[in-house]
Amino acid sequence: MEQFKGQDILNFIKELPNDDACKAYLAKIKWQDGFTCSKCGGTKGCEKSGYNYHCYACDHVESATANTLFHKVKFGLQKAFCVVFEMSTSSKSTSSIQMGKRFSIRQGTAWYFMQKVRKAMKSSQKYPLSKLIHVDEFTVGGKEEGKQGRSYDTKKKKAVIAVELTDNNKVKRVYIKSIKDYSAKSLTPIFEEHISTSAKIITDKWRGYEPLKEIYDIQQIYSNNGTNFKQLHMGASKI
Ligand SMILES: [Zn+2]
Repeated sequence: MEQFKGQDILNFIKELPNDDACKAYLAKIKWQDGFTCSKCGGTKGCEKSGYNYHCYACDHVESATANTLFHKVKFGLQKAFCVVFEMSTSSKSTSSIQMGKRFSIRQGTAWYFMQKVRKAMKSSQKYPLSKLIHVDEFTVGGKEEGKQGRSYDTKKKKAVIAVELTDNNKVKRVYIKSIKDYSAKSLTPIFEEHISTSAKIITDKWRGYEPLKEIYDIQQIYSNNGTNFKQLHMGASKI
């Protein structure tokens, strides 16, 4: 199964009918880009039964739930998945009393788990990109030649991407947000949600970034057909 998308609860239950299916799902997502041992950083190992991974370097056996929200949940993975599903798909907040009743979990236990979920949901906003950030806009399906990436074709999907680079210019973190146009108003949310005001930001010469300069340290350079923004376009091609 691909990553679960959508808000259909029946479909959700059908795809993840029991605790085992949920664990398999976690294992798939966790190790989709290969295994890295959380104890020693080793990358060689093999998958064991029960959705665990055995590290050849240090013999550590890592569970699919280790270092996730779902580690050692007492009420079963499927219920935990359901709580997260409810919290991320419903627009109004559900109390721990209601949640506890709905999934037969003690209220205190539900409250504690829901706190963890809320914290995880907020973490991307709590730890904004803060070092050297490249920001660029693009249309899904590639840039249009000679237009510095801005398509005025209203049917094409548009997005803005922010990439945080390490000191040796490697991609550290990436955020992508779809936008309806390239106006300053549409470009602002990715800054507000994911970029620290102390970050050093590089963009192309697009005028939509101008108003943001009042708050952010933005240096605008000519984009030169994407060669200045190599890391960005490598990131963008993955979506
Ligand atoms: Zn190891």
